[in-house]
Amino acid sequence: MSFFKKLTDTAKSTANTLSSKSQELYTAGRLKIEQTQIEGRIKDKKTQLGDLVYQAYALGQEPGSAAAAICEEIRDLEKQVAELDQKMQEEQAQGQQVQGQQAPLSEQDLQQSAPAANCPRCGAMVEPGGKFCPGCGSQL
Ligand SMILES: [Zn+2]
Repeated sequence: MSFFKKLTDTAKSTANTLSSKSQELYTAGRLKIEQTQIEGRIKDKKTQLGDLVYQAYALGQEPGSAAAAICEEIRDLEKQVAELDQKMQEEQAQGQQVQGQQAPLSEQDLQQSAPAANCPRCGAMVEPGGKFCPGCGSQL
């Protein structure tokens, strides 16, 4: 399968440029839009590839370097989609940690995300999300 073997040799050089490019995107909305665009391009590339492979088949030939080049492009695009997936998951996980009351939060998280609260009865400092006052024990 010389056609596919060629791919592994050249694909490495393009992989490095991908991470820095996707770092510019920061909101989940933009990530999703970008991902949808890339998925559209993958679809186009696969259509092109199908044409080339079928032409080669019809002529009794092996798919040529043009088909291999499209395979490389598709693989790079799919890597970008996977990277965007991961980024969106990370952002979602971070958002849940800050907003969710059940997630365990570090002291630093508490200081950044929640205002200090005081017990209405005794005025003691109460942990954000806490159900009982540590000072007087009354339910909050
Ligand atoms: Zn109290």
